[in-house]
Amino acid sequence: MIHRLAVPTPFRIGAVNCYLIDDDPLTLVDVGPNSGRSLAALEDLLREHGRRVEDLERIVISHQHTDHLGLVGVLADRSGADVVALKELAPVVEAFGEHADRDDELAQALMLRHGIARDMVTALAAMSRAFRGWGGHAPVTTLLHDGGELGFAGRTFAVHHRPGHSPSDTVFFDAATGELLAADHLLPRISSNPLISQPLGGRSGEPGDGRPRALLMYLESLRATREMPVTRVYPGHGEEFGDHAALIDERFEMHERRAAKILEMIRERPRSAHDIAQAIWGNVAVTQAYLTLSEVLGHVDLLLERGAVAEEELGGVVRFAAAS
Ligand SMILES: [Zn+2]
Repeated sequence: MIHRLAVPTPFRIGAVNCYLIDDDPLTLVDVGPNSGRSLAALEDLLREHGRRVEDLERIVISHQHTDHLGLVGVLADRSGADVVALKELAPVVEAFGEHADRDDELAQALMLRHGIARDMVTALAAMSRAFRGWGGHAPVTTLLHDGGELGFAGRTFAVHHRPGHSPSDTVFFDAATGELLAADHLLPRISSNPLISQPLGGRSGEPGDGRPRALLMYLESLRATREMPVTRVYPGHGEEFGDHAALIDERFEMHERRAAKILEMIRERPRSAHDIAQAIWGNVAVTQAYLTLSEVLGHVDLLLERGAVAEEELGGVVRFAAAS
């Protein structure tokens, strides 16, 4: 039995779903952010199912984002549970702070290179450091592998690495029931923005300025998920849903529309990614600047791959121009 525990977070996204799998071993998939309020709510939700934190035997982390892994250290300490993560994700779970520092460095370099002013980049870096406290870390005691299994007494989930939304996204599929624990790989109401993060697991950078092609990776991952015989999706935010293929098709169409719109803008004149983001969203809040930049770069990567646009550098800032 899979129970959805919607744990409140201090973030714009709202509650995060942790899943209690009532089987042997008693398992919690994702844990919520490292905050007293989230912990209290999680304890209440566990109690509704007759369980306590101390009863947990296994904690599984789906991916590297704060709202999914923050309480891992607190819960692991109190329960002594096995902490389980994909091989590529484990170093982040074990050293969240150091990893976040390196992600910030990548983000700052990318923002400057793609036209965001230095004072905005500095403000964003300070904010990112302030958010660090919602994260957490713990030693990972069991590593999972892409194509491997997460076993229970009464059921087995296949483990699939689905990078894109983050480089470490992991989904769990029970082929016997068609149930898919998808975390943020596929969300019912909002598109899972692929945020550009440093590559994991020793994957080297990509050509050009070395930025990981997050959206291209994400679309490839969605194509793989679309082919699976899924009956029910348990997402990281929002309610369970069916017909995953229709939702994935909607996402594909949405990304195509945005890429077409961005191509039109680039055809008017060469533009930096920040210029494009401003033309679409106006002067966004500082907190959203990296999100919108990641989004634009993702679509530009699609256009670059198709040979529709070319990249040129001018005084350290990259501009995209229509390919002739
Ligand atoms: Zn996430």
